[in-house]
Amino acid sequence: MITTITKTQLEDANIANDIANNIANLSNGSTLCNNNEVQKVKFSRGNPIPSYEKYKFLIWEFDRPVIWTGVFFIALWHVIALYSLVTFPLFSHIPLALYGFVIGGISGFGITAGAHRYFTHRAFKAKTPLKIILLLCYSVAGQNKLYDWVRDHRVHHKFSETDADPHNASRGFFFSHVGWLMMKKHPDVLRKGRTLDMSDITDDPMIQFHHKYWFWIKLFFCFIIPTAIPVYLFGEEWYYCITTICFVRYIISLNSTWAVNSFAHIWGNHPYDKKIFPSENLAVSLFAMGEGYHNYHHTFPWDYRAAELGSMLNITTAWLNFFQKIGWAYDMKAPSSELIQKVVENNGDGSHYKWGHEISLAQAEMEKNQ
Ligand SMILES: [Zn+2]
Ligand SMILES: [Zn+2]
Repeated sequence: MITTITKTQLEDANIANDIANNIANLSNGSTLCNNNEVQKVKFSRGNPIPSYEKYKFLIWEFDRPVIWTGVFFIALWHVIALYSLVTFPLFSHIPLALYGFVIGGISGFGITAGAHRYFTHRAFKAKTPLKIILLLCYSVAGQNKLYDWVRDHRVHHKFSETDADPHNASRGFFFSHVGWLMMKKHPDVLRKGRTLDMSDITDDPMIQFHHKYWFWIKLFFCFIIPTAIPVYLFGEEWYYCITTICFVRYIISLNSTWAVNSFAHIWGNHPYDKKIFPSENLAVSLFAMGEGYHNYHHTFPWDYRAAELGSMLNITTAWLNFFQKIGWAYDMKAPSSELIQKVVENNGDGSHYKWGHEISLAQAEMEKNQ
């Protein structure tokens, strides 16, 4: 019964999953400090699933309760990042700006190659040194706990554009981009999330360690170490290091990841499957290191390249090919071109460069909506 669910239980079941709260917890040191408690919440499935009714707050009405601390900290981080960006004296701090790009690239690789292609989709196998690199790079990104990231993404693929999709793009651009982190999850997300097999994650001792000490790992690898390096290495000022690494870099990195769920689920063409939302979006690929070929990715989620084409923008794939060469990545999965051709001809909107036919985007959109 709903009446027996306490506020704390509701929060346990939802809030700890969100980046918004991770940001908040960095400041108030609440939930994540108690590792045992979080461990129990994350790795057990015993919490009741809430069934929300319409939630009223003053004159507004939402279909989910809003997490106001999340709204506040996400907004605050964006405002500070924007201010830091426009007041940054670029020409006197070029090494720091370049360093910021490198840190952004490292964290991006942790998300695209690590959390996404390896831990979520198991699109290739990794030897221990590469696995450690992926976990470290993921730590530099400082997003959700890996378990939450993987579960959210698996449920996103399995139930795309339904209530069980954590960032359901049919609820609009804002919700799929960042709004989903500002309100509690739909009960279907929790319900379906529990049906997934997560044993590869929960049974992995390295991930268990990473999970248990996530608060400290994130604090050091995402914020403290990357911020301190330029101070001691090339005498940068603390103020510019903090604003560049902790705010500008962090916010750009978050938005690049979020763009895959919003832009690449709303805008672009559908050469592989015209019936789904995910689209081929070059701009997203540029920011998200090759993850914007999203129509392809949702059609072949097990392909380690996450794309058929566009190797110029697919920096992640270039790095994975390098690791394959030195033997740290192996069993790289990818479909044959015959299979891709068959899928393109049967399901695509005709916009494929080779096996498509002339079709306007407007027409493709109409076909998709039919
Ligand atoms: Zn997607
Ligand atoms: Zn995916």
